[in-house]
Amino acid sequence: TFKRAADAIGAAVGRVVATSRFYDTLPLVLPGAAEGQPSYLNAVIVVESALPPLSMLAALQQIERDLGRDRASEEVRWGPRIIDLDIVAVGDLTLSVPGLTIPHPEMHKRRFVLEPMLEVAAEWIHPTLHADVQTLLDALPVDAP
Ligand code: AMP
Repeated sequence: TFKRAADAIGAAVGRVVATSRFYDTLPLVLPGAAEGQPSYLNAVIVVESALPPLSMLAALQQIERDLGRDRASEEVRWGPRIIDLDIVAVGDLTLSVPGLTIPHPEMHKRRFVLEPMLEVAAEWIHPTLHADVQTLLDALPVDAP
């Protein structure tokens, strides 16, 4: 599924210039939900794109649907899903409009985003926190997912 997603991103969003390894992450689980849920695979890819951010989000959501994701049938937030494509960052752009926040508002709190990012975009600096990826990682509590 990841390979198909990366191929579709290359076709619809822009040239894929780097792909991290996969990171196996235990699921974030809401109290009482999803006991025994399998772990997630996470990865970060770097794309060179001419699309405006909202078009990029629409393209990613179309790819999710093409790969069989049906948000309406997902019972719990953070439950199992076939694919979840997020925009982590777009260079040093900051944007906050209904339905899209860039950088992704949770990215700096998630080891499963920052670790793969360190592989493929270590030089990126968070445009409002003014910290690089390693600094954001070092600031995480030891138990952060
Ligand atoms: P999730 O299913 O957790 O990925 O949440 C998806 C929703 O988050 C989408 O409907 C988007 O409108 C919204 N969203 C806000 N910012 C972003 C972002 N940077 N990347 C992807 N989705 C985003």
